[in-house]
Amino acid sequence: MLDKLEAQPADALLALIKMYAADERADKIDLGVGVYRTNDGATPVFRAIKQAEQRLIDEQDSKSYLGPEGDTGFVEVLQPYIFGESSPLLPRIEGMQTPGGTGAVRLAVALAAKAGVTRIHLGTPSWPNHAQILGDVGVETVTFSHATSGGEADIDAVLGAIRSAGPSDAVLLHGCCHNPTGIDYTADQWNAIAAAFAETGVLPILDIAYQGLGLGMDEDVAGVRNVLEAVPEALIAYSCDKNFGLYRDRVGAFYMMAKEPGQLGAIASNANALARANWSMPPDHGGAAVRIALSDEGMTKVWQDELDDMRSRMRRVRDRLAAADNEAPGLGLSALASQNGLFAMLPLSKEQIVSLREDHAIYMAGSGRINVAGLHAGNTEKFIAALADVTKG
Ligand code: PMP
Repeated sequence: MLDKLEAQPADALLALIKMYAADERADKIDLGVGVYRTNDGATPVFRAIKQAEQRLIDEQDSKSYLGPEGDTGFVEVLQPYIFGESSPLLPRIEGMQTPGGTGAVRLAVALAAKAGVTRIHLGTPSWPNHAQILGDVGVETVTFSHATSGGEADIDAVLGAIRSAGPSDAVLLHGCCHNPTGIDYTADQWNAIAAAFAETGVLPILDIAYQGLGLGMDEDVAGVRNVLEAVPEALIAYSCDKNFGLYRDRVGAFYMMAKEPGQLGAIASNANALARANWSMPPDHGGAAVRIALSDEGMTKVWQDELDDMRSRMRRVRDRLAAADNEAPGLGLSALASQNGLFAMLPLSKEQIVSLREDHAIYMAGSGRINVAGLHAGNTEKFIAALADVTKG
């Protein structure tokens, strides 16, 4: 039976990690893996999370089962950050904890499918796991282009997708800090998107994996809030793995917005049943740490300061890269200053990407995606010089 299984292609990014680890050049640069790095190239545990974990260890008196919805205190304490302090939408929203943003996307797609969605429109390129999850759940993926060749969001394509969507279609959008392009919709574009969703009644699935890493906590969800205010129903996937640095602890949340508060019980019971069949319950530790941190003013302040530092560091890197392009045009970096988050796509050929790796010890995804946070004061100039070398006519 099992011998019928065909080998699957190795994950390209994991292969890149291995190659990077095996490279003995001291000045090698890793721009592949999608984690935040400090100016020293480290991905430390947040100070606020360390404090919260300490309190969790001191005070937790049981590890008995919770339930498919996980830590409801965690789910509630996040809500004001996502939906706004006193959003009138809150009575129409119900949430549950999930294993990372991945678990939340999985639940969103599976619940949509259970409600009758058969096709999901997805802007490409996208986080590769989006298409994998859609395929695994068994809904059809319809793609539209996320960005224009000029490095801006392709508003006509997304509006076209929403307007062409049928009654059993949904449209999946990134809330902020688009992975892999870093290209987000502008406020005006979000207005148009919200209006298109409102006109057509198409179900939005909104994936927020990097809140606070783009322009600011509120700024990064302004577009999502705009859509939510305009539509009757929506599904929202959320990850705390980047903005709380909890990656391997798998911390996420899934929120359902219904037409009427009275419908939430039935909707959430379906999501609970799906979670039960998938993972039964989410892991507790990271979600509990986020709940503790956000329930304490001091820890919340420490977390916000840490997030501010991360955001401004990435902004400085982006500004320096764009400035380098102004000084010596042709590097393909000029749009980075107006883009957001961890990622950017560089217009490099396969050969140029290989040359960066082999001749300059600079590792990036084969798509040309770089993790901006892999650059810092100590290696940015080397990166710019290497880019100039491989792109010179
Ligand atoms: N959505 C997007 C757009 C992502 O980029 C990611 C992670 N890279 C996720 C969801 C899932 O994040 P998590 O690690 O919390 O599962």
